[in-house]
Amino acid sequence: MKLYFFDGGALTCDKSSITLNRGAGTLIDIPITFFLVQHPQGNLLYDTGLARECLEDPDKHWGIVAKSYQFKFSKEQYITERLATVGIKPDDIKYVVMSHLHMDHTGGLREFPKAKILVQRREMEWAYTADWYQKAAYVRADFDQKLKYEYIEGLEQNPYDVFGDGSVTVWRTPGHTPGHQSVLVKLPESGSFMLTQDAIYTSEILNKKVLPGVCWNNEEAVKSIKMIQHMRDNGVNIVCGHDIDEWKQWKKAPEYYA
Ligand SMILES: [Zn+2]
Repeated sequence: MKLYFFDGGALTCDKSSITLNRGAGTLIDIPITFFLVQHPQGNLLYDTGLARECLEDPDKHWGIVAKSYQFKFSKEQYITERLATVGIKPDDIKYVVMSHLHMDHTGGLREFPKAKILVQRREMEWAYTADWYQKAAYVRADFDQKLKYEYIEGLEQNPYDVFGDGSVTVWRTPGHTPGHQSVLVKLPESGSFMLTQDAIYTSEILNKKVLPGVCWNNEEAVKSIKMIQHMRDNGVNIVCGHDIDEWKQWKKAPEYYA
């Protein structure tokens, strides 16, 4: 097995949109991240980064929400270009696990019509029905596509063991959104990695008592953070979704963890 970390560009935004009530007025860069697991039974992708349209005209593709960000995104950081650097074509992907359906994670989804797209049913419902404070973060053009969606049913299927051998499991981590999920990858040499995306935006959220700046339910967010802290305390490497300093420390594709 191999685990690849991909640099999908970055966005500049106000720090308070990442850490609740902290850092208003301070601009920070947040990395855009996605991951590939090469398993003997097939390739699995976790999230898909920014849409190709964001290279040219993010305002047109994202609408009003684009105004909150500056884009640091180039053609070679688009998902298909990044996968090509490790010899992978879209049709080589068997599964795409979606952390959630916010616009900085769904951009490349439509490149994978042959893959099974694993998303929490609750997340898909919320993507169409979100209230005003999150509505703009769901860009329908990205996910309202003819794709092979497979819905994971919340607590009933938690964790969801993708290959049936315990090596790649999908964990419900709601809070930021109702149907957020994280991926635990167990590697024979490098150990275990919990890929958390927006359940743990930054190490400040993991290690201090800080909530995510965008939060559907604080109570659920805290439960998810505590579960991930427990994994950390048991030696699992925790990979934050949008922490620029931590992100620099990981190996990036074409290097990998095995
Ligand atoms: Zn999000």
